[in-house]
Amino acid sequence: MEKLLTHWEVKKEDIKFALIYPNLYYLGMSNLGFQSIYYELNRRSDTYCDRLFLNDSAQLNEKSFIANFAHNSSVTHHSSLLSSFETQRDLKEFDILGFSISFENDYFNIPKILNLAKIPPKASLRAENYPLVIAGGISISYNPEPLADFVDAFVIGEAEINIHNLLSTYKVWTENHLPKQALLKELAQLDGIYVPSFYDIEYNSDGTVKYIRTKGQGGKKDEAPAKIKASVIENIDDIETSSKILTGNTEFANTYLIEIARGCGRQCRFCVADYARRPPRYRSLQNTIQLAKQAQGHTNRIGLLGAAVSDHPQIDEIAQNLVKLKFRLSCSSLRVETVRPPLLDALAESGQNTITIAPEVATERLQKVINKPVEISQLHYVFEEALKRNISNIKLYFMIGVPSETQTDIEAIVEMVSGLRSIMLPYAKKHKRMGKLACAISPFVPKPHTPFQWSQMEDAKEKLNFLKHHLNQLGSVQMSSTSARLANMEGVLARGDRRLGPVIYDVAINGLTWNKALRKHGIDGNFYTQRERMFNEVLPWSHIDLGVNEEYLQSEYAKSRKAILTSPCQIGVCKKCGACR
Ligand code: SF4
Repeated sequence: MEKLLTHWEVKKEDIKFALIYPNLYYLGMSNLGFQSIYYELNRRSDTYCDRLFLNDSAQLNEKSFIANFAHNSSVTHHSSLLSSFETQRDLKEFDILGFSISFENDYFNIPKILNLAKIPPKASLRAENYPLVIAGGISISYNPEPLADFVDAFVIGEAEINIHNLLSTYKVWTENHLPKQALLKELAQLDGIYVPSFYDIEYNSDGTVKYIRTKGQGGKKDEAPAKIKASVIENIDDIETSSKILTGNTEFANTYLIEIARGCGRQCRFCVADYARRPPRYRSLQNTIQLAKQAQGHTNRIGLLGAAVSDHPQIDEIAQNLVKLKFRLSCSSLRVETVRPPLLDALAESGQNTITIAPEVATERLQKVINKPVEISQLHYVFEEALKRNISNIKLYFMIGVPSETQTDIEAIVEMVSGLRSIMLPYAKKHKRMGKLACAISPFVPKPHTPFQWSQMEDAKEKLNFLKHHLNQLGSVQMSSTSARLANMEGVLARGDRRLGPVIYDVAINGLTWNKALRKHGIDGNFYTQRERMFNEVLPWSHIDLGVNEEYLQSEYAKSRKAILTSPCQIGVCKKCGACR
């Protein structure tokens, strides 16, 4: 059952908007960005926004892709397949279909959903009477190109503000009864909106991109800008990124989530949460507490979200205030350098028994390569302090296949985990209960707009097997991992171009396996994953401007090769990367 924290009247249905999460209800409703856009749309007086999710059988599965939609056991008011969650409308009845996409491996579900709704998946084949199809989300912001065949307009960057500009433009267009092309022209002029059909891509004989040009180039410059600038929200106090619906069927069951930081500023060279969300911004203490008060009477659980929650300059005050208000507190991943006793006290008082830390790698040299220094003594100190407070479980995130990684670096992961396990033992003896040490291992996937965007990706299969074998030998250690095969697919889609459109189509609509579809279209997946790019190569996302200039990314890539650290962002002082003006 869902509990709505904010109420809006379903009244003027001038614009009917279906917000689609192309995966399970559980994942969609765990995504605060999804909830935030749902709220932004419904608080408009001229728009009604409904939701749509996949059901359990529709998870990524190349072979079957059986798609029955939107039913979920917690959903009480849902009726038929492929109809919306709240009002049970067919997707064709909506004016706008908006896909919220966070992960590359969900791309296949976009044409699949459209096809099942009897809407032509290819944008070029959709007649005037079909809904406008838009898409946004973090992976769309850094490289929308693989989905260019299916989407009319992409929302690039932070959507909470430019979605309103898009809706206002849409409304004027409907009042003027103009053709769809006129709407697309207007949308293309908006900040953070990318209309892919207005761009031509030409390729060199070696398969690299020759150029990306607007169709109007050389003629009238009325169709689209040469570069699409991502929208950035200056002050996150201006937007309510907090839960609007509580449900037990999410990762953070019945927890009221608040985004207290956007971006990060630590400058980890692999991280899109940092590079695609610059500059780093923090929600104020006052605003955080104000939002938390909206949860009173509905739940006593508060979850603080951000790329590095403990980096918030007022995290201790936030934690202490929330505990005073009788909330039980939980946090996403912590940075060991900034975890202090008041935050651990608040977590312990809230009954938390797990802390999450992402060392990513385990040797000092590799920490410098990725620019994420984590002092082992600090990691031990934080864990020990947590154990003293009866927080007996730790969850660790690691990446493997990072540029220049050697077998010694992989073995060091086992040593690091083993060291933490030794710290646990005396506490386990004392309490007669061993805590859990969970290790989540992901093959490294280089992402656009980060310094590693030029880097080769490694096939991580053997290293994964090595870790599985050795970590499982340590008692009380649970290892989970993303498979090398799925990581490889993600790697192709993350840095892919428009030529992947037909591949996605064949997997989604014709049931081909990923490898068969690649072969059918003469595409070698290794071209996208296993190849080191030259700095002068035109990258498929070169026309997308996320605020960080290319020279900065190049200098960071050069520093990674020499294992040189870069210090964290100094907001108000530094103008190095171009994101702060
Ligand atoms: S300009 Fe400097 S402070 Fe601002 S985001 Fe870039 S590196 Fe960080």
